[in-house]
Order: sequence, then structure tokens, then C-alpha cells
Amino acid sequence: MSQLAERSTLLTPSLTLSIDSKAKAMKAEGQEVYSFAAGEPDFDTPEHIKVAAAAALDGGFTKYTPSSGIPELRQAIADKLRADNGLDYSAGQIVVSNGAKHSCLNAILATCGPGDEVIVPAPYWLSYPEMVRIAGAEPVFVQTTQENGWKITPDEFWGAMSPSTKMIILNSPGNPTGAVYTRAELEALTEVALEEEILILSDEIYEKLVYEDAKHVSVASLSKQVKDLTITVNGFSKSYAMTGWRLGYLAAPEPIAKAIDSIQSHSTSNPCSFAQKGALAAIKGDQTPVEDMRAEFDLRREYMCDRLSKIPNLSLVKPLGAFYVLANISKMNLSSQNFADRLLSKAGVAVVPGIAFGDDSTIRLSYATSLDVIKKGLDRFEEFCTTL
Ligand code: PMP
Repeated sequence: MSQLAERSTLLTPSLTLSIDSKAKAMKAEGQEVYSFAAGEPDFDTPEHIKVAAAAALDGGFTKYTPSSGIPELRQAIADKLRADNGLDYSAGQIVVSNGAKHSCLNAILATCGPGDEVIVPAPYWLSYPEMVRIAGAEPVFVQTTQENGWKITPDEFWGAMSPSTKMIILNSPGNPTGAVYTRAELEALTEVALEEEILILSDEIYEKLVYEDAKHVSVASLSKQVKDLTITVNGFSKSYAMTGWRLGYLAAPEPIAKAIDSIQSHSTSNPCSFAQKGALAAIKGDQTPVEDMRAEFDLRREYMCDRLSKIPNLSLVKPLGAFYVLANISKMNLSSQNFADRLLSKAGVAVVPGIAFGDDSTIRLSYATSLDVIKKGLDRFEEFCTTL
């Protein structure tokens, strides 16, 4: 008899972590490695946030809090959602968790189970399918196209629908595509969801990282009916460079928020007490560091896209959000894994193969690293591509 439950045998290990460990091993051997594999901002957490958390720690704010988070943080999040996103949630509809990843898992666990299907547009953030499987439900993938900017269309949404469809996952700005859905595109998609009463998990973690004339639109802000079907996920990791703090949150219709609170109260309990005080300072304090980081990402995005677009046999859609460029390598006649492995061992450049995101024709390059690393890494990348 297997010691493992079926649910754990269904999961695949993270390819991003395996590339990362190979890159680290090469570095440890003294080799020069330029990494475009990062999934987190390279900036430090702004000082005032650290000071607030340290003060909470010094002041003995080290005990359990309510499992959904401290009331003042939940209220501050409700205020932020109203001011930034046009969303009217009470503090009771907010659950603060250990990262947006945890919020997504909680949301799926609370709403989806055996017999349910969840539509996941591909390329997708690699944890979505695994979360759906952990819940005992089934991911249904919809391959989006480069021509449509890697965005799912209403027709594709209809095509993936079955009587078992329970939820669709939307992620704008998106990882790994950098795609940002317009209001009109979201309206067209939510019309489909409304017709069949499909829940929408809207992962808005990269909300603050949008470029050019792109605007972030919160799905739930489109109408009261859409809001009643939507679970909005957001967090502190990307906007405030707080990945290690493990703080994310969601806002949901009250019965769903209550169910999620229940799951959380019996699994992890509250997110870290003094980290929550840091998050409170992040959300209520000076927002200048957020814009400073966005502006720096924008410079790097322009630079990286400019250079990549000049490489023969490589194509891309210029991303308008997040901090990734998804480059199409299908003309190079290598699988994405093979391309990434060779690139790392021959040129010392780490990228994430698109197969990790359900798309073998692409690789993901993150520009969450210094312009200097980007320049040197792209020199090698270009040279590698000319040898193929
Ligand atoms: N959603 C997406 C699309 C992400 O890329 C990430 C981080 N890689 C997360 C959620 C999780 O973020 P957190 O650190 O808040 O768990």
C-alpha cells in the first residue's frame, strides 16, 4: 500500500526551483551565472515597513491574532480596495493569509472539489493547476495565443465550458505573460461567467506593476453581479517587495469569506502577527517606493524588450505588466526545457522554460534583476541564440 495519498502523487515538482538550484550550484562552483529566473523583486522592503514590524516585535506584539488578520489591517485593506479598485467590501469580507499563494489555495479549497472543473488559461502561473488538484478538482487548460496577446477570448472560454465548470482563474497583470486585460476584454469574459454563474478567481498580485497606458481593472468592480461571483486576491509581495514576509489577502462574498476563515483557522491560523503590522504600514504609509520600483522595472522592461526583439527567430508580445517577458522560441527547434538547460550550461544564463507554465514554445525572462545583470546576461543570451 502506498504511503502517499493520491493527491500528493498528482503534483509535479516546481521546474522553477530546479533551474534555480542548478544555477546556484554553478555559482557555488565559481562559474559566472546571470539569472533571469527570479520571481520576486530584487529591491529591499521599504524602510518604514521594516521599522513598523520591528516596533511591533519590540512592543511584544507576538501572540496569536484573529485567524483572518488584525481588524485594523482588514479595515485598511477594505479602504484600499475602495480607493484604488472601486470595490466596496466590509472588513469582514477580507481574509489575510500567508501570501497570495495561500489566499489562492484557500479560495480554491473553499469552493472547488471532486467533480468540479476549473478553467486555467495557459500559459499560467504554475501553482494554479496544482492547487486545483490539491482540492480534488480538475484543471481545464485553455491555450491562449501570442496573436491575442496571450489573453483568453470569450469564445475560448465558452469552448472550455462543461456542466462541471465551477471556476475560471484570471490573472491580470499576468505571470508569465505580462499581459494586462483591458476593461472591455474583462467585460466580455465576465458576460460568459455571468451567463453560467461561473466563479472567478481574480489574482491581482501584480496590480501596481503596469506600464505605458495600461490600466489595472479589478474584475469585481465591473458590476454587483460580477462581484458576487468573484474572489479578488492581492498581496504585499510584489508591490512592496515583501516576498519573505508571507502576506497576502483576498476579498470575497461573505459566505465564501467565512468558509475561507474557517479553513484557515483550522490549518495555519493567523498570518505572522508583527508582519501584519508591517503590512499595515505598507498599505497606509508613503506609496512613493511603489512608484519608484515600478519606474525602475519599466526602464528594464524597455531595455530587455528592445534587445530581445532584435534577435532573429525569437518573437514576443511586449508585456504591459508584471516583471516578465515571455519569448517565443518555437523557431529554434528545441523544447523549452532543452533550450533552458543548454542556455544555462553553455552560456551561464538562467531562464524558466515555458513548459513550466503549460507552453513549450516559450521561455520566461524576469527583469527583476539589475540593469547590469540584464545587459551582461543578454549579451550571452544573444550569442547563444546565434549558435543554434
Ligand atoms: N500569484 C502570482 C501570479 C504570482 O506570480 C505569485 C508569486 N510568484 C503569487 C500569486 C504569490 O505571491 P505571494 O508571495 O504573495 O504568495
